[in-house]
Amino acid sequence: MKLPIYMDYHATTPVDPRVLEAMLPYFTDNFGNSASRNHAFGWVAEEAVDKGRKQVADLIGAKPKEVIFTSGATESNNLAIKGVAEMYREKGNHVITCVTEHKAVIDTCKKLEKQGGRVTYLPVQKDGRIDLDELRAAITDKTILITIMTANNEIGVLQPVAEIGAIAKEKGILFHTDAVQAVGKVPFDVNEVKADLVSLTAHKMYGPKGVGALYVRRRNPRVLLAEQISGGGHERGMRSGTLNVPGIVGLGKAAEICQTDMAADTARLMALRDRLSEKFHQNLDEIYINGSMEHRLPHNLNISFAYVEGESLLMGINDVAVSSGSACTSASLEPSYVLKALGAGDDLAHSSIRFGLGRWSTDDEVDYVVDKLTDVVRRLREMSPLYEMVKEGVDLSKMQWIAH
Ligand SMILES: *Cc1c(COP(=O)(O)O)cnc(C)c1O
Repeated sequence: MKLPIYMDYHATTPVDPRVLEAMLPYFTDNFGNSASRNHAFGWVAEEAVDKGRKQVADLIGAKPKEVIFTSGATESNNLAIKGVAEMYREKGNHVITCVTEHKAVIDTCKKLEKQGGRVTYLPVQKDGRIDLDELRAAITDKTILITIMTANNEIGVLQPVAEIGAIAKEKGILFHTDAVQAVGKVPFDVNEVKADLVSLTAHKMYGPKGVGALYVRRRNPRVLLAEQISGGGHERGMRSGTLNVPGIVGLGKAAEICQTDMAADTARLMALRDRLSEKFHQNLDEIYINGSMEHRLPHNLNISFAYVEGESLLMGINDVAVSSGSACTSASLEPSYVLKALGAGDDLAHSSIRFGLGRWSTDDEVDYVVDKLTDVVRRLREMSPLYEMVKEGVDLSKMQWIAH
């Protein structure tokens, strides 16, 4: 077993060697510009782009023409939300999203508000999912877009996207979903979800960084987007710029591998994840799982370790790469807004850890991480007067705290 251990697959994934192998010729021999229509270098590149487009489309049940390549999911989210807001301005200015979205959605929505748009940020229930009645109640005759993620990047919770898509369709509102964490990991079909716009990115599914895609529905309805990057009219005029041919080859190959390996990967990762969870529960009390276990990505676990201090917890496991409920969103030590939205207090949010398993995670790694964390948590709790009081049967919620 090699140290440090990588257990942060929601942040990024290594490039699969099969993906790298497919990409390499497109940096050297096949370096052509896919927009060069009049010579063989261009044709070879174009053919590779077409193949990548089909591989991505096949993974999500789309038509190749509905796939627009971008620089990643941050751009895809921006293009979807700003592109709709600009294009459908006549129809309305109201967008519905949710408080646990990725910053690439939240900050884009904030920008719309600055420009006079209206945004509803739906709360989530204790399990991390939105309430469909609240969604229905938020819709007005000015609503042009619902944007709700498929799977959350911190707690792995799956939103009821098929139901959301059905509501959007019934009301004639466009539905965008940031499906970055779900695509390639769990079955996702644009028609089952009735999604009109879907964001995905290569580097969360064993492809390279800096390339992603936006699915844009072409029929029932035909979705139009105002371009956010102008110049040259590439990608049906929705996203100009010379295509990242090696990146697209990598994204395509990554999509193909995810599709063929999904069932096996899922079964293996779910077993690993359950091993991780069971061992923690055997070793430690006062630990809490954040988010629904039923509606969840197979490779995610997010646990709050009560009565330990977040910073000390992370420092004690410096040979294990995980994310904490603190630093996730920014350089500052704000507690995670996702965990707070579930109702966690600041202390519990800070002492939370996201475990993201992936294609190269092993039993040995899981066991090492559990042992290491168990030691650290026990050691920190020995120094915690609060934990001692709880063990002595004191009900902390009934305590009178004196503020100084
Ligand atoms: C990583 C991530 C993004 C951003 O993708 P990039 O390709 O890194 O820009 C957006 N949404 C979610 C849910 C993510 O996990």
